[in-house]
Amino acid sequence: MKDHIPARCPYCHGKARYYFGIRSSIYNHCLECDLIYRVNAQGSDVKVRKYYEESYYDQYTTDQEGGHRQCLNSHILDLIETRKRTGRILDVGMGLGFFLNDAQKRGWQIYGIEPSKKSSEMAMELLGKKVFTGTLKEYKENGNFDVITFINALDHSVEPWREIEYARSQMKPQGLIYLRFPNGLIHTLIYRLALKFKMTNLISKYLVFHEYCITVKYIKKILKDFGFEGIEIANSRPSGGDPHKLFQNEFYTRSIKKIMYAINSIVYILSIKKIILGVSIEIIAFKK
Ligand SMILES: [Zn+2]
Repeated sequence: MKDHIPARCPYCHGKARYYFGIRSSIYNHCLECDLIYRVNAQGSDVKVRKYYEESYYDQYTTDQEGGHRQCLNSHILDLIETRKRTGRILDVGMGLGFFLNDAQKRGWQIYGIEPSKKSSEMAMELLGKKVFTGTLKEYKENGNFDVITFINALDHSVEPWREIEYARSQMKPQGLIYLRFPNGLIHTLIYRLALKFKMTNLISKYLVFHEYCITVKYIKKILKDFGFEGIEIANSRPSGGDPHKLFQNEFYTRSIKKIMYAINSIVYILSIKKIILGVSIEIIAFKK
């Protein structure tokens, strides 16, 4: 099976190799730019899009509906406001619009893009204004935004590098981009260790794998390639939610937390404390 996998990176066309398989998906790793991608993700634009348009709402919105994202939203707005005062803000993959609702209360002029029809309808009700149902690629207005956010959205996209490119074209000079996504290095490292120790049944459902596993090295590269500077990367605070309903069994929760902590500690020591270890990472950068 491994022999039939295309071994060229969809981003830089560098040499890629088989990295791991999980359920029916296979992931490759580019040895040059560090992109970890689900094989055939790039060819499945229609399929991925259809999923987010029609099914995503039913599977994951309970996470957004809970109040536990409030702290995360406040943290993100606090962080942004240390660099930018209020202005025009666009949230890509806005879900039900809770983040933008908080931003609006703080005086931001809000705009949202959401591929799920059901989510965007609910967001319109909450925000009392029209949002764009679709993708950033399809958004044809000249946004001239001060800030664009992707909160747990980039790793779901069909081509994340294009999202960065489209975002840049919608921003003012020195505009700020904020990104938050699962730390691809940590999630894939834990899964690969679990494979080695035959613990995948226990651990795989606790890890997050979408179309891409985005690493710090990769995100830095694409931000630089598409004209961003002043890149700052940090571990992101947890959202506190449980969208997959996986942490309801306390025994497993404690075991997994111990395993994650142990692995994090090992990586930390081996990397001489230079590595970003969080399960989620957040990034800000500025358009050149
Ligand atoms: Zn590559």
